[in-house]
Amino acid sequence: MSVQFRSLPAADPRIQNSRVRVSQGVITGTRKLTYDTMELVVQCDPASAPLSGTAGQYAILATPSLSKPRAYSFAMAPENEEAGRHTFFVKLIHGGEFSGWLFRADRTGEPITLTGPLGQFVLDSSADPMVCIAGGSGMSAIKAILEHAANRSVKRDALFLYGARTQADLYCQDEIESIKRKWNADYRFDCVNVLSMEPKDSGWAGARGLVTEYFESAYLRDGKFGIGNSRAYLCGPPPMVDAAVSVLVDSGMAPGRIHYDKFEDASSPAPVIDNSKCVLCDECLLVKPIQNCIVEASGFVLDKNDGVEGYLRVNPARTSGLYYNSLYIDEDECIRCLACVHQCPTNAISPSNSVNPAMLRNMRTGAPPA
Ligand SMILES: Cc1cc2nc3c(=O)[nH]c(=O)nc-3n(C[C@H](O)[C@H](O)[C@H](O)COP(=O)(O)OP(=O)(O)OC[C@H]3O[C@@H](n4cnc5c(N)ncnc54)[C@H](O)[C@@H]3O)c2cc1C
Ligand code: SF4
Ligand code: SF4
Repeated sequence: MSVQFRSLPAADPRIQNSRVRVSQGVITGTRKLTYDTMELVVQCDPASAPLSGTAGQYAILATPSLSKPRAYSFAMAPENEEAGRHTFFVKLIHGGEFSGWLFRADRTGEPITLTGPLGQFVLDSSADPMVCIAGGSGMSAIKAILEHAANRSVKRDALFLYGARTQADLYCQDEIESIKRKWNADYRFDCVNVLSMEPKDSGWAGARGLVTEYFESAYLRDGKFGIGNSRAYLCGPPPMVDAAVSVLVDSGMAPGRIHYDKFEDASSPAPVIDNSKCVLCDECLLVKPIQNCIVEASGFVLDKNDGVEGYLRVNPARTSGLYYNSLYIDEDECIRCLACVHQCPTNAISPSNSVNPAMLRNMRTGAPPA
């Protein structure tokens, strides 16, 4: 099909996204994969920066119709895509701005901006057996990684467990079969769909239960899956990923062997910067997709529980520079894309940090600095 590229407003020059590429594209197709999951295909303008990343990574998608962008994982290995084309799987969220917009009407021809590639959820170079566990739209990144592994004929066994509610939630079954056919013939590739809410009398003869509990009972208890020398790839809703991490760690897998991407959303806690670990390298500022998600603060207004109620921006004309002050994540602006978390070289940023922001010159007052 011939694609008309409409020009979008120029990228906001106040957002310093020099560690990522910004590509302008057009939605060239959407296809319902299930009643609540949509395939979204974007063709990028050949004149803008190519986004080619590594299987497992994600991009930030923005359209002029929406208030804020959202993060979505590439759903195909880049080498399986045509030049400039990117495929995503989007799950419909009740009341969700982006997913609701996508499902409400045919969006073919709509302009869309892609920023990326982001994230470190990629295939490692070892020959260790791998277990992949995905839930819901977490199929996207896991499918991309498995396609990439099949293309490279990796010399490793793989077990893919896909957790869904019912048979109506299953999709990409042909694509998974084709990965299986392509898998290095000297190694195993097994895929098991595990359904948690399939009616008892439906005739489903496959696996049932929560995918992580099924993995534990069917593969770990009797030692069918050698946990010690394997690696895990987990992707999908945060509770599923957390449950899988704890099953794997309890069963003896070293945390360094567990790779995961959590599909955080607006209900997830925003990351917090531990200023005692921050070396002011600016890396987080170079990937942030929102102008004011990470701000340079010269002071904080604290509530009676010592929580941050508000902050004062560094004002170059009135306050001393950032080296005396603090980087702070404004949770009202943050879209939970985790780009800053992955980029920070000192692990200063995490959604699980429970520290209050600290000023480098110990300034914690509501009064504007002198
Ligand atoms: C690295 C990364 C990769 C991601 N990849 C994908 C992907 O490939 N496919 C995909 O579908 N999503 C993915 N997401 C999630 C995606 O970025 C959005 O958060 C999600 O699509 C919801 O956006 P929305 O605009 O529809 O809903 P919003 O407008 O952001 O949310 C509307 C309301 O629904 C609640 N809500 C949002 N999501 C959920 C949920 N899952 N369960 C329950 N309540 C929810 C929010 O708290 C809010 O109250 C990814 C997230 C991250 C961080
Ligand atoms: S603060 Fe971090 S997680 Fe939040 S939007 Fe900015 S880069 Fe993404
Ligand atoms: S990336 Fe980490 S260390 Fe660098 S400025 Fe941001 S928080 Fe500080």
